[in-house]
Amino acid sequence: AGYKVAVCEQMEDPKDTKGIVKREVVRVITPGTHTPEHPKENNYIMSFMPRERKHGIALADVSTGEFMVYETEKPLEDEIGRFEPKEILIPESLRDNFHYAGLLKDHYVSAAGDWRYDYPEAYKSLLKHFRVSSLEGYGCEGMTAAIQAAGALVGYIEEMQVKVTSLRKISLKNETSYMFLDAPAQRNLELIRNLKDGSTEGTLLWALDETLTPMGGRFLRNAILMPLTDVKAIRKRQNAVGYLVEDYELVETLRKNLRKVQDIERLERKVSTGTANARDLIALKTSAACLPEIKNSLLSSRDGCLKELGRGVSDFGELITLIDRGITEHPPIGLRDGGIIRDGWSGDIDELRDISRNGKGYIAAIETEEKQKTGINSLKVGYNRIFGYYIEVTNANLGDVPDRYIRKQTLVGAERFITPELKEYEAKVLGAEERLKGLEYQAFQGILQGIGKDSLSLLASAHSISEADFLLSLSVVAKRHDYAKPQVDDDVIIKITEGRHPVLERLSLSERFIPNSLYLDGNSQRLLVITGPNMAGKSTYMRQSALIVLMAQMGGFVPAEDAVIGVADRIFTRIGASDFLTRGQSTFMVEMIEAASILNNATDRSLIILDEIGRGTSTFDGISIAWAAAEYIVKELKARTLFATHYNELTELAHALETVKNYNVSVREWGDEIIFLRKIEEGPADKSYGIQVARLAGIPDKVIKKAKEVLSTLEKEEFAQAGAPRFAGPQGTGQRQLDLFTAMKDALLMELRTLDIKGMSAEKALEKLRELKTKAEPLS
Ligand code: ATP
Repeated sequence: AGYKVAVCEQMEDPKDTKGIVKREVVRVITPGTHTPEHPKENNYIMSFMPRERKHGIALADVSTGEFMVYETEKPLEDEIGRFEPKEILIPESLRDNFHYAGLLKDHYVSAAGDWRYDYPEAYKSLLKHFRVSSLEGYGCEGMTAAIQAAGALVGYIEEMQVKVTSLRKISLKNETSYMFLDAPAQRNLELIRNLKDGSTEGTLLWALDETLTPMGGRFLRNAILMPLTDVKAIRKRQNAVGYLVEDYELVETLRKNLRKVQDIERLERKVSTGTANARDLIALKTSAACLPEIKNSLLSSRDGCLKELGRGVSDFGELITLIDRGITEHPPIGLRDGGIIRDGWSGDIDELRDISRNGKGYIAAIETEEKQKTGINSLKVGYNRIFGYYIEVTNANLGDVPDRYIRKQTLVGAERFITPELKEYEAKVLGAEERLKGLEYQAFQGILQGIGKDSLSLLASAHSISEADFLLSLSVVAKRHDYAKPQVDDDVIIKITEGRHPVLERLSLSERFIPNSLYLDGNSQRLLVITGPNMAGKSTYMRQSALIVLMAQMGGFVPAEDAVIGVADRIFTRIGASDFLTRGQSTFMVEMIEAASILNNATDRSLIILDEIGRGTSTFDGISIAWAAAEYIVKELKARTLFATHYNELTELAHALETVKNYNVSVREWGDEIIFLRKIEEGPADKSYGIQVARLAGIPDKVIKKAKEVLSTLEKEEFAQAGAPRFAGPQGTGQRQLDLFTAMKDALLMELRTLDIKGMSAEKALEKLRELKTKAEPLS
């Protein structure tokens, strides 16, 4: 509901106080500072500070203690898209800032006083929180905006009274070691949320998630959103995955144990912040008990990365003994109701427990005795909060009640009595129980403290486990779905042999999934124009290619027979735009914003996927924009690009530019029908088959028939003067499909006509002549 929740507790024992018991707000729960329901997702709170063209950003997950700090020139919305923070902290003065208000419209925003973002203040907060005297050790000295964002965030989290020790350390995120995926790319490639309903179903995460622990799940999620760019780091993961693919037994042993491991990271956080209950400790104990075997298995491998992970896992023998000796096997959740500390842990507890147990037994004995004495067989000894223990006698037996019974309460069918003897024992039993609960609570706190000593090694072990779980997950998927180990290098070539779409190939389509290959390099095949009818499989082909590059850079295997992947610094996508329409921008505007971002940011190491650019406007404008953008990408940006289009005119690009090649997704005509072959082949598509596809979609026959007539007229260019097809009749509004080449001819003529040759040197004139010849080339 968007509220923050203040938790108040009694600070004193009501028994020891007279009058009003002291109460305090012990913590405030906000969307970004609580432990979330989804164990396999991080729960981030983000804080940012703008400075010149940059943003300083700090991200914390208080449930795991993670704290990340960095500065970036990339758009803030992309960073928000990547981490999906549940709460965003901003300086008070930005609340009414038009730009940020629009950007943060759909997010839960909290404001902190500007003083918190003040550099000296923020710096001090960080020193105090992390108990250091300088930030140099964290490598973030000098990152003013990042420190401001981080200091304010720490201050805010402390104000919410999440325990002070909750954040572990400042980790500096190094932007260049990760592939950058902006918000459209994350969305369009359906990495962790699908376009249909925003769930994980059918996403890359869904396809790759065989992790067994929540920590491993979070690792995988982050690895998908932050693929690596460092070849050495990628190969390290690849080798580990490769080793696991081969060693079935090791995988089985590791997975058998991982299944029993719970969220050690979050359990440890709960212990250190004093919010763990006894069941959490049991979970920690059973999890820790699996670690030695996991450690040994990892150490027994011959892979460097797995061994290293094995070394990162510690042995928690003492911790296990401590919990084992201290905590009962099936404790209740509540900490103040007793039943959590084992017999033998403390003499005092044992003694009180004896009294309380025997006392209860005595009360049971009173019932039997009273039945005998009074001869009332239905007599019962019961307990309620108001009267304590009582003897209940039904109305029918009231005549047999002895004088020593003192009447306390009258019910519809019965009366309740007490006796002095009953009350005497009650005092003993209840008192003992109260004291026992108090002692158990204290003992539990002591055990928590004992575990706290292992905090760091628990977290380090959790980290190793999460990575091992992630690598295992990749290996299981690789083996099960027959993936291949790609060769990853710093070259620009991307060569995929018989690649498949990791998600689509698994869904039960009405047809078998057809694999396709791809070759891109910086030279003759820098940009591929992909044509083909609707539904042929253009988008699928482009998406699968992008996903394969991404999976390779995660360090995993890929759904292909073979692949060579020259690392990409970014993957850009421009695909559909439906989910943005609600934000009040038109389809075309969204298209252009996304295209602009690509043209302004792509580099010669990027991979660009363009699906239909320029479609949302008039044909003529659309083709021109698409043409110019493609030319700019190949000539200026030199990025590797897949460009799908329905404008067949764009296939002419390949004639004009050496680095452009045409490909099409093949179909065959069968009478009136089309058969999708789903195979990529070189060369442009011959026809667009839009009408056939429209029929498949169930457009009424009458409309299809008319469309065919209009098409054939258009193809014969039988237009009335007004530009409408002749037979379309007076209502016809069909705008003539403008011929790009007529326009190009006109432009060329215009250029010739206005050319000033007088002032030209012979050399310049020759150069101009060459240029005009190149421009005339596609028109031949
Ligand atoms: P449009 O131009 O209308 O956007 P498209 O050419 O991009 O169409 P896709 O969306 O890629 O077509 O594919 C349409 C459907 O065809 C997919 O949803 C899938 O069911 C099927 N398909 C695509 N590629 C393959 C393939 N390689 N093997 C089997 N089925 C495929």
